[in-house]
This record gives sequence, C-alpha cells and structure tokens, in this order.
Amino acid sequence: MSRRSWAEPFKIKMVEPLRMTSPQERERAIADAGYNTFLLRSRDVYIDLLTDSGTSAMSDRQWAGMMLGDEAYAGSENFYHLEEVVRRYYGYEHLIPTHQGRGAEHLLSILCIQPGDTVLGNMYFTTTKAHQELAGGRFVDVVCDAAHDPDDLSPFKGNVDLAKLERALTAGGRVAYLCLQMNVNMAGGQPVSLSNLRQVSDLCRRHGVPVYLDATRAVENAYFIKLREPGQADRTIPEILLEICSLTDGCTNSAKKDCLVNIGGFLAVNDPDLAERARNLVVVYEGLHTYGGLAGRDMEAMAVGIEESVQFDHIRARVGQVEYLGEKLVNAGVPVVRPIGGHGVFLNAAKILPHIPRDQFPAQALTVALYLESGIRSMERGAVSAGRDPDTGENIFPSLELVRLTIPRRVYTQAHMDVTAESVMEVAAHPRRVTGMRFVSEPKHLRFFQSRFAPVSADVEAAPRARKSLAAGV
Ligand SMILES: *Cc1c(COP(=O)(O)O)cnc(C)c1O
Repeated sequence: MSRRSWAEPFKIKMVEPLRMTSPQERERAIADAGYNTFLLRSRDVYIDLLTDSGTSAMSDRQWAGMMLGDEAYAGSENFYHLEEVVRRYYGYEHLIPTHQGRGAEHLLSILCIQPGDTVLGNMYFTTTKAHQELAGGRFVDVVCDAAHDPDDLSPFKGNVDLAKLERALTAGGRVAYLCLQMNVNMAGGQPVSLSNLRQVSDLCRRHGVPVYLDATRAVENAYFIKLREPGQADRTIPEILLEICSLTDGCTNSAKKDCLVNIGGFLAVNDPDLAERARNLVVVYEGLHTYGGLAGRDMEAMAVGIEESVQFDHIRARVGQVEYLGEKLVNAGVPVVRPIGGHGVFLNAAKILPHIPRDQFPAQALTVALYLESGIRSMERGAVSAGRDPDTGENIFPSLELVRLTIPRRVYTQAHMDVTAESVMEVAAHPRRVTGMRFVSEPKHLRFFQSRFAPVSADVEAAPRARKSLAAGV
C-alpha cells in the first residue's frame, strides 16, 4: 500500500493573522536587529521558526484551565493538581515549580555543584552549561561521537558514550552529577535509547554519581524509543516516559517545550532532603514553593498540557510535521542533520555555504539570508551559540555549524512547511549571494541572544589579509 497522508489532529478555533513584508522592509528590519534574528521584532517575521520554546498553541481545555487559576499566594489548588500530574507522568515525588527551565537549572546547579566539580552531560545546552559554570562547575561532554556527525544515520545519536562516561567517572576529582538531556537539542533533536539510559544509570549509581534528566523533550524522546527501539513498539508513551524517569534521580524541565505552555518549568526530585533545600532556595530566586514564579493559571495550563503531550496522536503529528519538512529538504538535496530530529530541522550551514570561513559564522549568515528571502526566522546553532573558551577566551568552533528551523507545536500547517522548504531551497541554490558576518558587539553571557553583527563586505571577502585583521578586531 502506498503511504497514506496524515493531517493535524485538531481543527482551528481562533486565528492570528500573519503579516507579510517586502524585501526592502526586511532589509531594514534585519539591519536594525544587528543581523541577529533574536533582535528582530516579531511583527516583522512571517513564519517564526526561531524556537519551539513557549510558542505552542494551547488547546481549548488549557484555556478553560486558565479560568480555574487559583491565585492564592500560598497553597494554590493548581499547584496540587500539577504535582499530581507530574507524579503520574514523570513519576518524581517532589515538585518545585519555576518560572521556566533555567530557573530549575539554576537551583539544581547551586544545590549540587561545588567550585571545581565536574558536571557531565550528553552534549551541552546553552543555559544548562551557563548555570553549571556560574556555580563553579566544569562541563565535560560524554555524548557519543555520532552526535557530532550530521550525516551519521544512527537512530539514537543522543546516547552517552559509556567509555567516555567511565573515563570521566574515574578521572579523579568530584563529579557533581550527570545531566542527561533527552532528545539532544544541539545535536539536532536526537534521542537517547532506553537501553543506553539503563546502562548509564547503572554505571553512575555504581560510582555514587546522581543522574538528573533534562526532561524538556523527554516525551518526544519517548516517541522515538517507541518507534525505533527493539521491543518498545507496543508500549504506550506514558509507560516509556515513566521508565525513563525511574532510571534517574530527578529532572529539570522547561515546560515551554513538550508540556505545551507559553511559560513555566519545574525541578522534580525524589530525594526528600534535596527537595527541602530546593524549596528553601526557590523562595529566594523564584517565589514561594507552591508557585515558583508562576501564576496559578499557568500551573493549571501546564497540568492539562502534560496530559495532552503524552497522547499518541499529538506526539505523532508533532514529530511527523518536523519529519515532513525535513524529508522535503532531504529530497531536494539540501544538507540537513539526519535522522531528522524531534523538534526541528537543522540545516548544515557549513555545507550549504562552504565559501564562508568558520570565523565569519556561516550559520549566522544563513539565518540572515533566509530571513531576507522570505521573512522566515530561524536560529543559529553553531560557533556563535558555542561562545568562547572560559580559559583562553578564544572562540569555540564546534563540529556542528547549524541553523535550526524549529517547529512550534500545533501552530503552523503543512502549507507553512511547504513555503519554508521552498525558501530554504532558494537560498541553498544561490550560496554565493550570502556573505559572512563579524561581531559588532558581544555580551559576556549567552552571547547568541544579544550580539550584534555586520556583514563582511564583498571586497573584504576577496582579500584574505583584510579579512584576518577584521576578525582580530572582534
Ligand atoms: C529550552 C531549554 C532549556 C531552558 O529552558 P528555558 O525554559 O528556556 O529556561 C534547558 N534545556 C533544554 C534542552 C532546552 O531546550
């Protein structure tokens, strides 16, 4: 039988008109934004694929839940509902809500990391690593080598390399914990297998090192496990999710992703002492432990969102839409990270723009070109995101120089994906029209959010010596 089409498992009840812009308007807008898509005004964007963070469309049931907000300062009903839902689907005993994921990362980092500690992870994530380093920790990557290869077709490229893990655990010095990210974001949304997680959990336990999950995309990861891992096809998403969590000591979670809300996050742990210390600290940084920086209505929307997020029809369509866009680009010969990830399609900017040297940030340049072409907003995930080495101050050039087309959940239709694919193909067909970028200003922390750039002018590009002096002037 030929492959059947699928459609979004919802119908549209309310619409938000999109604004189209002219090429001249876009040129002005991106120049005003310092050639950084984070600094664009959203009114100047047509299809917004900057991030899947907080950009989900809420359901009618979630909006109904907003009306049930119990805005008591302490002991809100919505907190207890959320606590019950987190226990049911994630399985952790103690819930500490936070304003978003990095709030939870902050708490976990300052509670568990002592200056000089090593913190392990399967590839870094920007905010996670920033908090670990601010707490005095040193990040060590134990992800498998396949994660760094955009053309490697392994089904679980988020897996931990057990030999690297063993080496890190026995290297001497204190290891604070392993932060295990589900559906590794910076690798292109690549999942971790259950069998890898079982071995990782076992090895860490034997060394007395706790494992904390970055559960931000654990539901999408559970879907890939069901799809790809032998013996898992007949299990439900909630069953797999519960087993994932049971192999760890707790999690941080940005509810702005899988959990289908516009704001929110949480720390959830099993250790009662750690929970008590977290409840005490959350008061300092976020708010009382029964709201952690959220309104009651936000917690209610999150509780309903978690229930919806684990439904098979939802997660199949969510990941399926990303795959739809990815396959279109693959079929057109555009180099993308494969297999296609769970939350976005990652364009291999280094391959699409081979004439732009790494120190002119090809991925940043590609985000600009794509915006100018069609008003589509994407995100750099390459050297600009990687930042500088804390010891030498030099730019870090990671093996992956990517542009992420991140798909918000339940927001865009297949037709938007078609338009996106056509725009990417147009840019990729004319690489020579794209010029490199240089820094004009660069903030100290998480520089990709707020840096400003300028195009490296055409005559500079023709003269390598001039280019070098420009780069040195950064
Ligand atoms: C978004 C994200 C975070 C941070 O969460 P925020 O809600 O943006 O603070 C942490 N880890 C991963 C993997 C993420 O994608």
